[in-house]
Amino acid sequence: PSFNKMNLNKELLKGIYSIGYEKPSLVQSKAIVPIISGKDIIIQQQSGTGKTATFTIAMLQVLYGLSTFNKKKSEGLQALVISPTRELAIQINGVIENLGTYLKVDSFCLTGLTNNKTASAKASTEKKIKLDLKALESADIVSGTPGKIVDCLKRNQISLDNLKMIILDEADELLDEHLGFKKQIYEIFSKINIKTQVLILSATMSTNILEVSKKIMNWDNHIKI
Ligand code: AMP
Repeated sequence: PSFNKMNLNKELLKGIYSIGYEKPSLVQSKAIVPIISGKDIIIQQQSGTGKTATFTIAMLQVLYGLSTFNKKKSEGLQALVISPTRELAIQINGVIENLGTYLKVDSFCLTGLTNNKTASAKASTEKKIKLDLKALESADIVSGTPGKIVDCLKRNQISLDNLKMIILDEADELLDEHLGFKKQIYEIFSKINIKTQVLILSATMSTNILEVSKKIMNWDNHIKI
């Protein structure tokens, strides 16, 4: 299997090769094409298997299609990636920007308003930074954490009306009863169009995840990988 055979946008392919990926990992070769075909998917994979690039490559292909011309003017937010921690949201945003360099993707990292330099920085060193609303408004893709996303939805700073795809990364953490994100995830999903494609990634597959998945996915058109 090779990335060349996946019928990907040329600029996306250029991005993939330019960061040094030569061939797809196992999960990439199993999941990218079905995602592009429009299916809702549950991917059970540990970190380290290439899962971030799996959903990023597929997402960029779904959003930008095969056109190598200048991308259309933004029609509002097209894709939303939700992860449980700020560090992960930042990391995913970086992967989106790297893979999407030649597509000139417009991606925005939306997390709590703190500017701590390292992951271990204490609250006392946290510094408020101002949310760049203009950049947020023009973004095609947002990678963020549940609390901040819900906050911006309430303030009408983002709209999910035209969202093509929503991705839950580390869903076992996001939907864990004790972490308290579950309510926020349901809140976000209550604002989403029925046509929005749903991807769920999780290291483990609990009954809780399956239960939530049935509620938020198009269960008749879903596959598990
Ligand atoms: P992840 O599972 O998303 O945490 O990715 C694990 C690591 O694998 C990251 O450092 C990626 O840059 C790398 N990676 C992902 N896909 C590929 C690929 N097709 N070829 C080589 N490295 C990859």
